Parts: sequence; C-alpha cells; structure tokens
Amino acid sequence: MRYDVAVVGGGPAGLVAAIALAQTGAKIALVARRAPYADNRTTALLGGSVEFLEQLEVWPRCKDKAAALRTMRLVDDTGRLIRAPEVRFSCDEIGLELFGYNIDNRTLLTALEQRAAEFSDLTRFDDEAETICPADADVAIHTGEGKSLSARLVVGADGRQSACREAAGIEVRRRELSQAALTFNIGHSRPHRDISTEFHTPQGPCVFVPLPGDRSSVVWVAAPKEAERLFALTDDALSEAAERQSHSVLGRVHVEPGRHVFPLAIEQPRQFAKSRIALVGEAAHVLPPIGAQGLNLGLRDAADIADIVREAMLSGEDPGSPQVLKRYDSARRADIASRTFAIDAANRSLLSDFLPMQSLRAAGLHLIGSFGPLRRLAMREGLAPSWRPTRRAG
Ligand SMILES: Cc1cc2nc3c(=O)[nH]c(=O)nc-3n(C[C@H](O)[C@H](O)[C@H](O)COP(=O)(O)OP(=O)(O)OC[C@H]3O[C@@H](n4cnc5c(N)ncnc54)[C@H](O)[C@@H]3O)c2cc1C
Repeated sequence: MRYDVAVVGGGPAGLVAAIALAQTGAKIALVARRAPYADNRTTALLGGSVEFLEQLEVWPRCKDKAAALRTMRLVDDTGRLIRAPEVRFSCDEIGLELFGYNIDNRTLLTALEQRAAEFSDLTRFDDEAETICPADADVAIHTGEGKSLSARLVVGADGRQSACREAAGIEVRRRELSQAALTFNIGHSRPHRDISTEFHTPQGPCVFVPLPGDRSSVVWVAAPKEAERLFALTDDALSEAAERQSHSVLGRVHVEPGRHVFPLAIEQPRQFAKSRIALVGEAAHVLPPIGAQGLNLGLRDAADIADIVREAMLSGEDPGSPQVLKRYDSARRADIASRTFAIDAANRSLLSDFLPMQSLRAAGLHLIGSFGPLRRLAMREGLAPSWRPTRRAG
C-alpha cells in the first residue's frame, strides 16, 4: 500500500505529527506499537503548545488532568561563594493568564491515541519498522511482523537512536553529559500555588513542577552515581531528601510509587530532513531537561511538517521532494539550534567550577531578575521563539 506520509514512532511527538498530518487530508500510515507509556515523566506544555493541541482536538480530552503554571522560580542552591539572586517569572508580567500546563505523559498519550484513532485516512500498523529504505520515488518500509508499505515522505519520530535518521544517512553529533535525571511524583502538605520551583545545584537543576491538587512532579538532575543513589533510597528516605532539597517550600513531602532515571545527552543531527525522511521530536533533538523545552520543540516540529506538507499537496507538489524537505529543514533549524545552544550554555554555567563563569552567571541572572524588560524578553523567548508566526488552524 502506498501512502502520502508514513510516521514511524508512537511517542508523543509521533502521535502529534500523525494527527496534524491527518488533519491536512493526506493519506497517512502510523507505524507504532500500541504500548502503555513506560515511565512517569510529565511535560510542562508552554507557549503555543496547548493552543496547538486544542487545534488538534486533543486538549479537551486531557485538560482536566493538567495543572496550570503561573510562576517560575529559579533558586541558586549551589552554596558557592558567588551565588545568583532568586529570579521569579510571573505570567501576568507579560499579560498572560498562565505560562502553560504540566501534564503527565501517560494522560497526554491516552488523549493522543484516542484522537489518532478517529481518522479514517490514518492507518495504524501496530508494529515496528524493521527496514526503512529510501529510493527515488518513495520510501519502502517493512515491519517486524512482515507487512510492507511505502510512502512519499517518512516522518521519523522514532526517538533517540532513530532508525529513520540512519536510513536517511543523517549524521548526528552526540555528547553524553555526566548527568542523569531522576523523575518521580510527590504529594505535599503545602499548596504549590501554581509555582514551579527550580533549585540550581552544582550537579544540575532539581525542579518541582505542579500537578493537580497538592502534588508535584520532580525532575532531579545529578551526577549519575548520585542519581542512582537517590533512586535506590527507600520511599521515606527519598521523601526526606526531596523535602530537604526543596527547602520545605512544599511542606512535608511523600513520594508516590514509580521512579525512573534518564542518562542525559545532547544530540544534534546535521540535517532535519534528507532522502524523503523528515525528523521530529527526539530523533531531531535531544536536550537536558532544563526550561522544559524538549517536547515543546517536538510539537513545533510536528506543526511545521504538517503545514509544509499541506501547502505542498495543495500546490500539487510531491511531499517528499528535495524542495519540500529543504523547506522543513530551514523552518526548524534556527528554533532547534537556538534552544540547544541556550540550554547547553545554561547547563554548563551551572556545572562550571570556573569562578569567572560563576560570576557571569550570577550577573546575568541578577540582570534578568532586576531589569523588567530583560526578564519579560526571557519569559517570552522561553515560551516560544519570537520570530515564529502564529500557526493557522488546520
Ligand atoms: C527527565 C525528563 C523530563 C522532561 N521534561 C520535559 C518537559 O517538561 N517539557 C518538555 O517539553 N519536554 C520534556 N522532556 C523531553 C520530552 O520528554 C521528550 O522530548 C519527548 O518525550 C520525546 O518524545 P518523542 O516522541 O520524540 O520520543 P519517544 O517518546 O522516545 O518516542 C519514540 C517512540 O518511537 C518508537 N520507536 C523507536 N523505533 C521504532 C521503530 N523502528 N518502529 C516503530 N516505532 C519505533 C519507540 O518505541 C517510542 O515509542 C523531558 C525529558 C526528560 C528526560
């Protein structure tokens, strides 16, 4: 069977891309195993992400289980000689009712799966793509269970170690970081008041992000050995450690069942599209979880590929042609490169023992904290790149 577009991978980026592409009226294949979401990560959806999920008719299915984010606090907890002042970002300073919502990925995935199942022109292969072979006119895919299909364009949403990226011959620069993120959720005795608090430690940030009720999700970045040590603690000991790390701002802490450790890395492919294959989500960018950028970028990848395919097909173009791929590559390059650079720089400045770097970081945060226009610029840029036009509904 021949499709206009085949999406490979059914993580959040792949499902969103498949839905956005299905809304264009193109004939879509989604090659993705239906499996329960494997970890307890949550996503802070910022800027246009919620609006985009509304356009896709996904948001109404999960918004009741999301928590509003109205204030972001950055607290220097490095204990170093030169420390940055606390910086507080409030959404009302830039005329917004909220910055976004935090939602657990399991709930988001369920809503995405429900919506994807509603399109008659979206064919699901509950399977893995075993071989992906780009040729002149299309890309041939063979699945693990022996099915064959082809598509004029393949959207590679198959995460880190992307087989689509490899099939396209796209090189990737990979840098393992000597950091890992421990994730878990907590209940607490004091309300979070819609405030997300990021404690900057010499090993990385430890972030407490609101969930509905008196609950929060925790992403605790530390040296890999420390992350493993925390992971192995009893519930009581981890509750105590989290309460200490949060300086008891949330009162008494009780960890909920379920913890995961993610080794951190930065991955930058040299291209975002080649040989009839376009990359979205972590196949296109892997970043440390600072400033909640990863999936927000992935949603913008999905929005852009869908817009570009819609326009190409309306004007009778082949959606996998080199010109169309070039348009996608150009559309994503500045956004992905600027986020990767900013997050890498923020992470390095935190880890650096180099005194001038610490002074520079403290001075930068001081400037942001005390100078309104700069703070407002940082907030707006943190939500979405300022050069990005608002997306038209599909
Ligand atoms: C600790 C942590 C916290 C984070 N917090 C945030 C946050 O607050 N906000 C934010 O925006 N981002 C956040 N991120 C980033 C975000 O989680 C990722 O960007 C996002 O999960 C990536 O989704 P994805 O769909 O690209 O990849 P994945 O979720 O990895 O999905 C890839 C899918 O492809 C499938 N697959 C692989 N190969 C094949 C194949 N050959 N055939 C078929 N299927 C295949 C896999 O099974 C998988 O289901 C965080 C990341 C971490 C590590």
